[in-house]
Amino acid sequence: MMIVTMRPGASVAEIGAVLRTCQDVGLRAVPNHGEQGAIIGVVTADRSTDLSSVAALPGVAQVAPVSASFKLVGREFRAEPTVVEAAGVPIGGPEFVVMAGPCSVEDEEQIEVCAGAVARAGGRILRGGAYKPRTSPYSFQGLGEAGLMLLAAAGRRHGLPTITEVMHPHLVGTVAAHADILQIGARNVQNYALLEAVGKARKPVLLKRGLMTTVEELLLAAEYILAGGNRQVILCERGIRTFETSTRNTLDVTAVPVIKSKSHLPVILDPSHAAGLREFVPALARAAMAVGADGIMVEMHPEPEKAMSDGRQSLHLDTFAAMMDELRRLGEALGRPLASPQPPGVRA
Ligand code: PEP
Ligand code: MN
Repeated sequence: MMIVTMRPGASVAEIGAVLRTCQDVGLRAVPNHGEQGAIIGVVTADRSTDLSSVAALPGVAQVAPVSASFKLVGREFRAEPTVVEAAGVPIGGPEFVVMAGPCSVEDEEQIEVCAGAVARAGGRILRGGAYKPRTSPYSFQGLGEAGLMLLAAAGRRHGLPTITEVMHPHLVGTVAAHADILQIGARNVQNYALLEAVGKARKPVLLKRGLMTTVEELLLAAEYILAGGNRQVILCERGIRTFETSTRNTLDVTAVPVIKSKSHLPVILDPSHAAGLREFVPALARAAMAVGADGIMVEMHPEPEKAMSDGRQSLHLDTFAAMMDELRRLGEALGRPLASPQPPGVRA
């Protein structure tokens, strides 16, 4: 990718002329309007591409190659943090955003009870899997579209946007019709057909780091989605596989400042899949806030012992509420406010 830096104060017409000139010679160009002025990423160009006609245009300050291997996700393309808007909830701004809910949507009452508890505690996004990537083909695979509908209805009743996993390119349209954020699971982080499919979607995407994925590989996976046309991407570290067996995975908290040094995209942590054991989740949630994550995604369940998936790591509702109180107090000290708890009662 080559980057065309416009002079401060370059006009809309001048920026338009650069985009048109690129298009005319068959190059794909993506503009970014930052605090320092406009930058245009010429995605399909490299050092050997002749961009002299672009360099000569009025308002152009500089044409230079991007040195990092990731382009649109990198700080060279966009210096300031990206704030992703999920149905009105900003992720990547000052607020510390908590996404919570059961691992799987199991029935109407279960997701309703969870949604109420999330809203009452100041959680902002309701999670719940309807298509589940299970290690064994004989385990519960999720309720499918019926689960999507139950999740969306519970979210609507409690004023919570929703997030759920999409596992197959042909289901992106269906999931996007019901949910506000499309989740790409750890196992699919390098499923390039799926990344291309969500790149065409008009909904924010939460991209989970794989069990064996480096930060560089994660950022390049995100690059597929941005290069496909969708810039609303949130990254999620959810624990990686290490030699340590006392927890399900090992939470790589270091990934947060590392990613933030390289990328403008928001980053959240998932303490549930990292620990695999509910007693460690609140401590990791506090670490997430302290290390500078933009939020967390946690699993909870009205009766974790009876959960159809990931019960051992799912918080009881009272522990979830207590964890939220702790995070709210920590947020006051760290300047990362949590949303106010919603009063009990079903919303329109
Ligand atoms: C999940 O969020 O329930 C899930 C399956 O997560 P991961 O892809 O991180 O394992
Ligand atoms: Mn789970």
